[in-house]
Order: sequence, then structure tokens, then C-alpha cells
Amino acid sequence: MRDPNNPCLFCNINSKDLIFDNEFAFASFDSYPVSKYHSLIVPKRHILDYFELTNDELLACNDLIKKIKKKFKKKIKQLTVLILVQTQV
Ligand SMILES: [Zn+2]
Repeated sequence: MRDPNNPCLFCNINSKDLIFDNEFAFASFDSYPVSKYHSLIVPKRHILDYFELTNDELLACNDLIKKIKKKFKKKIKQLTVLILVQTQV
């Protein structure tokens, strides 16, 4: 049986789920969404947690958040954006 974490599940993201990407990160739709535009921002570099992100990677992730907000704001008049960082330290 294939191990979904080896390579990690984000290395084989389905291209139809990809929303945006840049040098350090990409944005994709979640495979198990809890809301209509549930999206993930994923750094391209494999790191243990959020706190290992470099400042350049943080800016790249933030750029994707802003792009997603702009894209979905065109589709929903009253868009609520929840930004959640999931990490273990
Ligand atoms: Zn990976």
C-alpha cells in the first residue's frame, strides 16, 4: 500500500487543485474542504513547522493569501477569510 506521506502528500498535489504558486509556496484547494473555497498555502521547502519559514517564504505565503482573497472576493460579496496556521512545536 502506498504511504501518502512518503513522499509527502503535498508533493503530488493534483494540478486541478492548484490555484496559484510562486517561488517559495503554492496555494491549492483542500481535498477535504469544510467551506466552498477552503484553500491551503503550502511552502515548497519541506520544513517541520511554521516557525522554520524564512522571511522570504513568509512573504511568499502572504502574497498567496492576498491573491486568493482577491480572487474569491470577486465571487462572493461578503467573503469571510479565516487564516489558520496549523503547526506542532
Ligand atoms: Zn512534499
